[in-house]
Amino acid sequence: MLRFITCGSVDDGKSTLLGRLLYDAGMLADDQLDALRRDSGKRGGAALDFALVTDGLDAEREQGITIDVAWRYFHTARRNFVVGDCPGHEQYTRNMATGASQVDLAVVLVDARKGLLPQTRRHTYICALLGIRRVILAVNKMDLVGLDADVYASIVEPYHALAASMGIASVNALPVVAPDGDNVGLRSMRMPWYRGPSLLELLETLDAEVAPPARFRLPVQWVNRPDQHFRGYAGTVCGGRVAVGDPVVVQPSGQVARVERIAGPSEDLSEASAGQAVTLCLDRELDISRGDVIATASDPAPVADQFGCHLVWFGDAPLLPNRSYLLRLGTAVVNARVTAIKHKIDVNTQAPLAARRLELNEVGYGNIDLDRPVAFERYADNRTLGGFVLIDRQSNATVACGMLDFALQRASNIH
Ligand code: GDP
Repeated sequence: MLRFITCGSVDDGKSTLLGRLLYDAGMLADDQLDALRRDSGKRGGAALDFALVTDGLDAEREQGITIDVAWRYFHTARRNFVVGDCPGHEQYTRNMATGASQVDLAVVLVDARKGLLPQTRRHTYICALLGIRRVILAVNKMDLVGLDADVYASIVEPYHALAASMGIASVNALPVVAPDGDNVGLRSMRMPWYRGPSLLELLETLDAEVAPPARFRLPVQWVNRPDQHFRGYAGTVCGGRVAVGDPVVVQPSGQVARVERIAGPSEDLSEASAGQAVTLCLDRELDISRGDVIATASDPAPVADQFGCHLVWFGDAPLLPNRSYLLRLGTAVVNARVTAIKHKIDVNTQAPLAARRLELNEVGYGNIDLDRPVAFERYADNRTLGGFVLIDRQSNATVACGMLDFALQRASNIH
């Protein structure tokens, strides 16, 4: 299974490329193809308008249904894929960051006529910050620059340098004409100077799966207590594995127990590992609630209430220090204040710049203070227990995502 997102500026061709990719992978059903032919004709063109394939999302958005990221599943004979479609022009950065936190690869689109734009740099930087180490650079609209190899090279070369400077380990670039399918499903005959694989071939063969975190962690989503004989703690394992009989510790309280039973969706399991949704039963009655973390007793998560963290700000109003927000980390929701903005980051050079506030789409580094301690991990070690969002209390809008870096001060008398 490969999970990826597509990033790019408005009109670079993301919808067209994704529609064409699904078409070339043979994933459009007959009725979808009929609708595509019919609706493309309505718009007055003989050619298929592949952007229409993903248009359902736009309709939903117009009806006011908020979609952060719509995940689409498709497959070929060689691999299963989940692609995050990040809709919304205004909220694009927010949706992209949400998507990037859940995937291991990004397809970054560039319009060949425009080359690398400030948005290309920002999206690439956010991908890197959110842990993506592999990027496919799709230089689209090559037909509009005469299918010219020099134009392609003038974009790809600086992009390699840019991505490397941001810590992206690997970039595969390719020239594309999305609506015509050049280098989408099949290799293009029209650009013989490019000898590499098509986008679909790259997606099928790249080694981009990242090993899950090693240490057992289960953020408790809810306490399942249908009657007095059963008490289980339900959630999705976000690291390591756990077996019946294992000693565990509940965090942040530090209470210890052994796993008595692991209930899966349809039957009891002898063990469970990262990615599985399970219900754990313990060998003694403990006081556990949503937001707690059940961890391996021999190597629990650190617990703290003050952190240094990276922040990507997407609130309309700027981030001002000391305002109170809700912070969601794993399944925990706590009150939080950003006590200091240390600097913001120039995404073109990665240089720190002096700042007292963060504006829309800016990235910065600051200190955050919670009103109670939580179990956490560094984002680099565990995205679920190291990645958080900030929610504005009045508007209920998600105004930032953040990556925990380290604890400033360990809370005393707890693990
Ligand atoms: P998005 O906003 O990134 O999703 O972009 P769309 O997929 O909606 O494409 C924007 C416009 O560019 C549409 O009119 C597409 O038909 C057109 N387009 C997309 N890719 C290409 C391409 O490779 N060549 C040409 N000539 N037009 C393209």
